[in-house]
This record gives sequence, structure tokens and C-alpha cells, in this order.
Amino acid sequence: MNILPQRFKHLDLDYHPYLQKVLIRLPPEIKAKVLFDPSFQIIGTALKDFDHFGGLYIHFNDAIRHLFFITAPVFNKPEYQIIYSIAHEIAHYIAGEGTTGLREKEADYLLYKWGFEEEIKKAKHFRAIAQSIGYRAGYKWAKGKDDDFIFHQFNGFYDEWNEKTISAVRLEELRYIVEIPSILSTFYIGESTSYESMETMIEDMKDMEVVDAEEGFLERGVVYGIMSSLKERKIKRGIV
Ligand SMILES: [Zn+2]
Repeated sequence: MNILPQRFKHLDLDYHPYLQKVLIRLPPEIKAKVLFDPSFQIIGTALKDFDHFGGLYIHFNDAIRHLFFITAPVFNKPEYQIIYSIAHEIAHYIAGEGTTGLREKEADYLLYKWGFEEEIKKAKHFRAIAQSIGYRAGYKWAKGKDDDFIFHQFNGFYDEWNEKTISAVRLEELRYIVEIPSILSTFYIGESTSYESMETMIEDMKDMEVVDAEEGFLERGVVYGIMSSLKERKIKRGIV
């Protein structure tokens, strides 16, 4: 029997499959703590309410000492990032209270011990990309397009993006489908127009990246931003 809906009443049902995927991979004693410790709770509002704005009052029957709040923006990210986020917050709870429990390294060390090594690696890479100018540019560009266009052009790359990472070969294919330099320049033009050519501008953008730019990092950012917008649309349609 699935006890999750009863146990986490204030966690929207959309999140339960992901939580389930994390729980089955946890050591039995950790899983039991998550399921039966009355001082631990998880809350999260509906994913379809991306634009919802307002307050929220919740009454709990038990005194809560550990609360994990899932925010909707987590969910337009690839699956491994969602799994990582959920497992990571559970690790904070298990690691202990006060400042000890909030140490990032400690939480990730527990995750490593529980067998989430793959997710730690992929999520770290993804988060670096998601902080890039390319990602913001791609997401913003895609937001301005209609659903049909985005589904038609990019759905074929979705599974690869959602489950692992888009390979260099597939990225090359995408360069033919979508004008990455023009997306970047449209995004950037508002901030500066003093460039002699698009090439010098893109070079400058690469310099500004906050992370060590591997080859194709900026381009990858654009593509990943577009894919996040696609995932958001899929969630709204209920097809994720
Ligand atoms: Zn953390």
C-alpha cells in the first residue's frame, strides 16, 4: 500500500513519484525515519501553479522540527537534478540538527554513501550550466515561442536531456536546428551594443561565465534553458 499520500498530506501528489524513487534507494533505517518520524514533514504546492502567488497556512497534528519545502522551480530541471535535490534535503535532515546538519559536504557525503554518486556528479554539472548566461538566454528565448513550435523542434532531445546529458554529437545537430549565436546576441544586446561583431561579443560572454567554460558550455547552456522551458510546458499539460 502506498502510504505517502497519508504521510505527506501537504505535499502535492505531483511530487510523490519522485519521492518514491528516492525512498526505494535509501538504506532501510533511513527510509523508516523519513516515513515514520512525526517531527519530519515535507511540503510542496502544485506544480501546475507555477504562477501562483500568495500565502499558505498549514496545520500539523504533530510538532514539526524538520521541515523540507520543495519549490516548484525545481521541477523544470532534469530528472536526476530533482532526485538529487530531494535526496540531498533528506540527507540534511539525517545529518543532524543545527549547523552540523546544514553542512553541504556532510549532506553530499551521506548521499554518496547511499549510492547517489551518479546524481551528485550530473547535478553538479547541470547546476553550473544552469547558472550560465547561455541558460538564461535559451530559457527566455523559448518562453517567447508557442508550445507547438517548442514541442516540434525540441521534443526529440527531451529524454536525453532529462535522463543524462545531451551528447556533443546531438548538440551539433541542434546547432543546425536553432540559431544559438543569434539567441545569445538577442539576449545580450540589451546590456551592451558596443561590439564590432557577434564573434567578439560571444567571446566576451564566454569570458564572463562564472564557471570554467568547457568547450561548448555556452551553447549547452542555451539548449538546456530551452529544454527547461519545454519541461515546464509538459508539466502544465500533465505529460511528464
Ligand atoms: Zn544543502
